[in-house]
Amino acid sequence: MIPKRQLKGLTPYKPGKPIEEVKKELGLKEVIKLASNENPYGSSKSVKDAIKKELSELHIYPDGYAASLRDAVATHLNVDQKQLVFGNGSDEVVQMICRTYLEKGTNTVMATPTFPQYRHNAVIEDAEVREIPLHAGKHQLEKMLDAIDEETRVVWVCSPNNPTGEHVTEMELIEFLNRVPEDVLVVLDEAYKEYVTASDFHDSLKALPNYRNLIILRTFSKAYGIAALRVGYGVASPEVIETIEPSREPFNTSRVAQAAAIAALDDQQFIDTCREENEKGRELYYEFCREFDLTVYPSQGNFVLIDFDIPSDEVFEHLLKKGYIVRSGSALGLPTSLRITVGSQKQNQEIISHLTQFVEERRNLNS
Ligand SMILES: *Cc1c(COP(=O)(O)O)cnc(C)c1O
Repeated sequence: MIPKRQLKGLTPYKPGKPIEEVKKELGLKEVIKLASNENPYGSSKSVKDAIKKELSELHIYPDGYAASLRDAVATHLNVDQKQLVFGNGSDEVVQMICRTYLEKGTNTVMATPTFPQYRHNAVIEDAEVREIPLHAGKHQLEKMLDAIDEETRVVWVCSPNNPTGEHVTEMELIEFLNRVPEDVLVVLDEAYKEYVTASDFHDSLKALPNYRNLIILRTFSKAYGIAALRVGYGVASPEVIETIEPSREPFNTSRVAQAAAIAALDDQQFIDTCREENEKGRELYYEFCREFDLTVYPSQGNFVLIDFDIPSDEVFEHLLKKGYIVRSGSALGLPTSLRITVGSQKQNQEIISHLTQFVEERRNLNS
């Protein structure tokens, strides 16, 4: 068998260490995973009831068009139903975009490090990937513009950026959109939008009518807390959606997932609470970083990226032994940084006390 040439060297996505495996390996009773930016508070209580109602219908295919969910999201965002495309997670919307626009001979521009699935799917489509390094955790939009040429089809902007948490401001976004050629699609990934508290964050939905080449990605996996059910979506001009739709699998979001997403969307109070708690959690980490003079980027997401100035795998191992799985930056091209998902306040305080112990011991050794 001869696979596509470009798949050579491509590895499957490596998830954080599974909880059960860590429990067994280290003989721990409780292990908490704060590695994939999942919601420490779960999801809205109404989600389970909505799912139960679907359990008698499991033999019937879902509505591939996701009409009820489409209606709910369109109303929530105040956009037309024709402006939405749903995916099996926004991961699948990323895949659909790549399937639609990228092929051999084309190129695509993105930051690095950023969400790895942009690159991964672009490589599968055999497009050239142009990666522009972040500066101080932020997209270098000017340099990204410079990288665009005749063969550029898609430009990716992740804001807040995973893994740094930094965001693009409203002014920066508009200036950028004004300068990207009209036939180049701008993908603005707002997976962490619900956690944003910065007043200068972009209002991309407001900008949408002015830019026919903009698609905004959102997900139910993070703040809405239903990562297991896989629902994400894109919002764009009806023309862009119409172009992408044929690349979508017929029944790509499940019946259960659609019902859960509608219920999750309906509980905005849950989202508000999560946002407030998350902001408090981020502050705890900033305080810790100030105390020990560690570099941390101001994050608008539900995670913080801390630079420990030593191989982060060591810090990762220390937390692992205490029963906390976080994400070492070594896999993200940031070998001295650790990405920690903001947990419940109790979890944050525990992690911070373990980190304090670790940093103090280290510094005593070296002094
Ligand atoms: C988690 C994440 C996603 C993927 O979310 P799903 O909807 O679960 O596929 C997309 N983009 C970014 C930046 C993420 O961090």
